[in-house]
Amino acid sequence: MPFDGVKHRIGVLALQGAVSEHADMLSVLGADVSLVRTPAQLDGLDGLVMPGGESTAIARLAAPMGLLRAIRARLDGGDFGVLGTCAGLILLSDDIAEPGALAGFDRVGGLDVLVERNGYGGQLASFEADVECAAEDFEVGTIPASTPSRVAFIRAPIIRRVGAGVRVVATHQGNPVAVASGRIVAAAYHPEITGDLALHRYFLRTLGVSSSV
Ligand code: GLN
Repeated sequence: MPFDGVKHRIGVLALQGAVSEHADMLSVLGADVSLVRTPAQLDGLDGLVMPGGESTAIARLAAPMGLLRAIRARLDGGDFGVLGTCAGLILLSDDIAEPGALAGFDRVGGLDVLVERNGYGGQLASFEADVECAAEDFEVGTIPASTPSRVAFIRAPIIRRVGAGVRVVATHQGNPVAVASGRIVAAAYHPEITGDLALHRYFLRTLGVSSSV
């Protein structure tokens, strides 16, 4: 059930990648969830999740509709936030080291970080790990701040540079793996593989949403 009677409307970008898992997690946290495949489907939303998958595929599918530019316009307009994971982080980043197949395609941008795609290695180098979440950002409800989040890294990007206005909200072995800036929250990892709700809960809080889970 939503907290304080507030039920925020959160879209999940549904072009490619881990769509239904994110939708399920947002529903568990009390959000009113819809799938987004066109710019018009952004109307009326308070926020959007850009799932992990393959950034080049998402950018190509979004291009004919100008969907990533439309997401940026909503961000710039205020009253709208985006949570990006893995490929979502890549598409939100201002800078990409060797963009490769992403070169020439629209991205969302707006997050002052430099990422390196596949920085942790390829599919076979995927791994699960506990990440350390920053206490002041994640301490909420009954979840102690010291609880590590168990998450999955799958062909994950490495965050190589974090801009001055960007907060590191989770680390792995001392390196930044989740960041926040304004109404953008982004992580190199997949929280939906293990079902760890910390990042989604934190995202909803940045939108002024308190979840009851
Ligand atoms: N390496 C992928 C990309 O460049 C991202 C991987 C993922 O989202 N799991 O898009």
